[in-house]
Amino acid sequence: MKGITQHRFGGPNDPLAQQIMREKGLSEIPLYRTDSPKAQKFDLNACMARWMAYTPHRDGPVNPQQPQGADPAHISALIRARGLELGAGDLGFADLTPVMINTGHEFHLPRIISVLVAEDYGKVLQGALAVEEEAFEVYVECARVSTELAAYIRELGFAAIADHNGTGEIQAIPAMYACGLGELGKHGSLIHARFGASFRPGFVITDAPLDLALPDIFGVQDTCMNCRLCEQNCPPSAIRSSGDFVVTEGVKRWQVDIPRCYEASRFRDEYCHICVDVCPYQHKVNRDPERIAIYKSFMKKRKQAGYRTPAWFIEDEEKVLG
Ligand code: SF4
Ligand code: SF4
Repeated sequence: MKGITQHRFGGPNDPLAQQIMREKGLSEIPLYRTDSPKAQKFDLNACMARWMAYTPHRDGPVNPQQPQGADPAHISALIRARGLELGAGDLGFADLTPVMINTGHEFHLPRIISVLVAEDYGKVLQGALAVEEEAFEVYVECARVSTELAAYIRELGFAAIADHNGTGEIQAIPAMYACGLGELGKHGSLIHARFGASFRPGFVITDAPLDLALPDIFGVQDTCMNCRLCEQNCPPSAIRSSGDFVVTEGVKRWQVDIPRCYEASRFRDEYCHICVDVCPYQHKVNRDPERIAIYKSFMKKRKQAGYRTPAWFIEDEEKVLG
């Protein structure tokens, strides 16, 4: 099966970021500067090297002996239990479709397992750098969990190939949506009932028989039609209004204005994650008291600092957020 989805490259070689850099007359992209104050505290390249180290182990020999009575329910239960044991917050199973694969890549296996690894939502109280560092650390975990889960499935007797940031062949949102791991919010990210949008993904492509999921619809998009929190908090106004959505393959979604988003997420020293952090789906379904307390504390500080002005951005988070 060949991929049909255009991939947006992360990192300093992203063509759109390069184009904006030329338009702005910049010689480098601030987020990826290696001599910035941020780079002295946190080495992005070292983190990338750690997830890249898993890439050669994404595939391997398959045990020729498959288990007796390999029915989907039993195999799914084994894989789920192993995934959770390895550190996944949740897993889901779906048929692989071309829209889940980036152009230029193909797989000859019929199903996909999406693995969610949770981020620490509490990092929002420590500012953008802490959030960014957490995301990079969790990407390493995604690479580890998907690689070790694929090895486990091959040991069970089925073909299995891991995909993560070090390989980048799977399109995360359509795969995770089909695997029943959440609903699409207006901020463009997938929202999981328990983890909100504070997570990172990994994948395993396989021929193991699996119990397939249905999309998990629990009211996010109905809320988005009346909620403007991410829209009003986005510094460069990159998030569209409630009525400005598109429907792709039957799924309603809001397209973030990526060039505008890059103003705050690539052309500053530190990444931006605000749309996800202000979303009430951090706690709306799970009712987790710790998340509720963090959310209230974060939003209080944002409000005190004037969060309802879209052009506003916290430049000194340590001072403002404490
Ligand atoms: S902040 Fe509000 S509008 Fe934005 S994704 Fe969350 S619920 Fe939807
Ligand atoms: S990451 Fe920041 S700039 Fe980009 S859409 Fe979210 S809030 Fe807006």
